[in-house]
Amino acid sequence: MEEKLDKVRFLVRDVRDYPKKGIVFKDITPVLKDPEAFSSVIESMAAKLSEMEFEYIASIEARGFIIGSALAYKMGKGFIPLRKKGKLPYNTISREYALEYGNAAIEMHADAVSKGSRVVTVDDLLATGGTSKAATELVAEAGGEVACLIYFIELEFLKGREKLGGNKVISLIKY
Ligand code: AMP
Repeated sequence: MEEKLDKVRFLVRDVRDYPKKGIVFKDITPVLKDPEAFSSVIESMAAKLSEMEFEYIASIEARGFIIGSALAYKMGKGFIPLRKKGKLPYNTISREYALEYGNAAIEMHADAVSKGSRVVTVDDLLATGGTSKAATELVAEAGGEVACLIYFIELEFLKGREKLGGNKVISLIKY
């Protein structure tokens, strides 16, 4: 599996100064369009979560949905979307947070998580951790428990993990 992930790493494309000057954006679209590489990402995540007990995967719009929904399907778990402000149709709970390149808010349906159920959050990338911290707060507010947070990519130099307290954090590829 590690060998396959080396190939995947090679496919992640650096886009300089996107979406603003000074940011090196990790573009995962070359990975997604390669069936073997995309499959390696989902298979690796599923292997890392295989011993964990949880009921739901909660993913963050938009790239998180691509990975999170494939993983939920593969593992036979329910999928919970965490969306940008104003996108979910029913009653929502909301958190504002700071991004590596700006501010944003995410929302979750207030009734998305049944009380006491365990949730794995999934995103494409961990940068400063602001988005993920907001996600864990939403899960907790709704009555759920965060089982762990899993990412395709982690930008270690931004120390996002430190913001996530005692939560278990897993990533496949680190920069
Ligand atoms: P953060 O809240 O700083 O951890 O940012 C994580 C979120 O922003 C994820 O949903 C990523 O998709 C996106 N993101 C932040 N920085 C980058 C980057 N350098 N390349 C690609 N996506 C990024």
